[in-house]
Amino acid sequence: MTRAAPRPTVFLDRDGTLNREVGFVTDPDRLELLPGVPAAVHRLADAGYRLVVVTNQSGIARGLYDERTLAAIHERLATLLDHRIEAFLHCPHHPDGGHGYGGACECRKPAPGLLHQAHDLLGCAFQGGWLIGDSARDVLMARGLPLRTVLVRCGKPVDNELQKLRAAACTPDHVVEDLLAAAAIVAPAFAT
Ligand SMILES: [Mg+2]
Ligand SMILES: [Zn+2]
Repeated sequence: MTRAAPRPTVFLDRDGTLNREVGFVTDPDRLELLPGVPAAVHRLADAGYRLVVVTNQSGIARGLYDERTLAAIHERLATLLDHRIEAFLHCPHHPDGGHGYGGACECRKPAPGLLHQAHDLLGCAFQGGWLIGDSARDVLMARGLPLRTVLVRCGKPVDNELQKLRAAACTPDHVVEDLLAAAAIVAPAFAT
């Protein structure tokens, strides 16, 4: 008897990928979805992917908001996306931060810690999976893992991010306008 391959996962960055990049989202009301995001999320989930958000939230270490507020922000985001996101994993740390979250950690992107959390806590497999984000550090966190990467242009200025990637000798598999364009590539590639 053969075991079915695990469902692949699409790991999604949050700020600049799902919602507008505004520096720090400090309040659920400041969360503004980017155009096409609900349709893109449905398309990815309907294709069969598990969807997990992986996000740096150093605003916690900076004292701009707390875990409770972040949970409320993610609850709102989950609702706006019809509960098709399976989990929201975040790094609350910052090297220069405080509030109990200072110092080095293994989960601040580009470190791959949040991906390993998804593997260890949720059983997410990397094979056949994707990572979609607007920053060089999103693409970099997937290095060494069997994930394909998509850089979206709807967040941070993309030329800067591509320059950082060139400096790190790392190339995203695709560079596209937004999450909807990413979904048009990723959804048909399910189980390939
Ligand atoms: Mg981002
Ligand atoms: Zn961390």
